[in-house]
Amino acid sequence: MKKIPFNNRYANLGKEFYVSTHPSSVANPELIAFNEDLAVELGLSDTTLNSPDGTAIFAGNLIPDGAEPLAVAYSGHQFGYFSPQLGDGRAILLGEIDSPDGQSFDMQLKGSGRTFYSRNGDGRSALGPVLREYLVSEAMAKLGVPTTRALAAVTTGEQVARERMIPGGIITRIATSFVRVGTFEYFASRRDVDAIKKLADYMIERRYSHVREAKHPYAALLESIIDRQANLIARWMRFGFIHGVMNTDNMSIAGETIDYGPCAFMDDYVHDRVLSSIDEGKRYAYSNQASIGLWNLTRLAESFIPLLAEESAIDTEAAVEIAKDALNKYIALYEQYWLAGMRDKTGLLSEQVGDKELIEELLSIMETNGADFTLTFYYLSQLGIDLLTEDSRIRVLFREPEQFDAWAIKWRERLKQEESVDETRQAKMQAVNPVYIPRNHQIEAAIRAAEDHGDFSVFHNLHEVLQSPYVLQEGKENYMLPPEPHEVVQQTFCGT
Ligand code: AMP
Ligand code: MG
Repeated sequence: MKKIPFNNRYANLGKEFYVSTHPSSVANPELIAFNEDLAVELGLSDTTLNSPDGTAIFAGNLIPDGAEPLAVAYSGHQFGYFSPQLGDGRAILLGEIDSPDGQSFDMQLKGSGRTFYSRNGDGRSALGPVLREYLVSEAMAKLGVPTTRALAAVTTGEQVARERMIPGGIITRIATSFVRVGTFEYFASRRDVDAIKKLADYMIERRYSHVREAKHPYAALLESIIDRQANLIARWMRFGFIHGVMNTDNMSIAGETIDYGPCAFMDDYVHDRVLSSIDEGKRYAYSNQASIGLWNLTRLAESFIPLLAEESAIDTEAAVEIAKDALNKYIALYEQYWLAGMRDKTGLLSEQVGDKELIEELLSIMETNGADFTLTFYYLSQLGIDLLTEDSRIRVLFREPEQFDAWAIKWRERLKQEESVDETRQAKMQAVNPVYIPRNHQIEAAIRAAEDHGDFSVFHNLHEVLQSPYVLQEGKENYMLPPEPHEVVQQTFCGT
């Protein structure tokens, strides 16, 4: 068995960035899932992780050779209010892995015990949130949305105290970096410009090496981060995904979806849908995600001001203008990514005036008719330009199918303008419109079976279907379906 080839660049940044912390042991860990495919991608399949020792490592009972575990310091704006000291309260970074194809990744345990940053928390995670993150993050990866990945999940053999006692779990997650907007804010709030610079250089080394060539690398870094974030949020929107808690400490600098708490995919489409139980002000509603992205990036840009000033030898006021210019590009970028994605979903190959209105009209009638987001686009992917008989499956999703019919006439007119060929268009649409998404009621069923009965088969079966979200799988029709009224999950909860 090979050793895990850990690199510890973050540990080398300096003591102000973290507190060295070992995971706390657990009583009786058992492996729930090990992500063999991901292990292969990372070049870890023939290491100790893929041996009986692996379970001990994923449980925090064994520190692999070469790891320098630590809890990272960060701040964050939570629901708009600044918390100067958050940090990894229930997560521990084991180290960085350099994969065979030359990329680098962070490996982190979540739920592995108290750290310096735990405040009143127990540093633990209940089994439910571990299963939820495993299912949703892996589904996101297969859908093609940038995301942290799940390498393994274990039960701890211990209970955690929440509203009641629940079995505990630990997830091992992989990110191209776990640095957050809040990590920059931590040093900005301390006016520690050296640390901000170190962190920016670290991110350039890890994820943004192309900006090194730029005349002003930090300005280019900020622009690149903004671009990736606009792209990421536009992708969420394509799948009806609601992150649920877009605090700045939950926004990744690398542009990946991170921290799956009360996140959810919508069933029936409601533009300003909120599912998180703690989001009473609807701050993180589906429809607000793009603008919250900008709000968060503005906090990041504020942290960058001293770097922008220094690299261009200008004063703070001039640096603020540079930051504003970078932020001003966000809306146009987002709109561009959103429209491109929605054109793909609706099968529009060319760009024509009026496309945005046509797409928005579909969304609007979906909302007034309680149509399922995923199924609407999936069945739309099967329609022909002329064969109106095929419309029956999509029509039943709409309370007043005539509203869909009226829209479909315009859509077909539009398709004719670009001489759309059914087979080609349908194949393209089916490659971007999934059959299966991790629906809340199915995640809930997987969690209930595991937490209440120690039965992981529901989890494994669901996970298996979500491995190929764009492929109709025989005998898996149930996984396509929206919830029955009694199955509807009205609210999702943070994993805390
Ligand atoms: P979240 O909203 O889940 O991203 O977490 C916000 C902050 O609370 C982070 O600093 C977490 O590390 C911390 N936190 C959440 N749950 C716990 C817990 N059970 N024990 C210790 N810290 C926690
Ligand atoms: Mg978080």
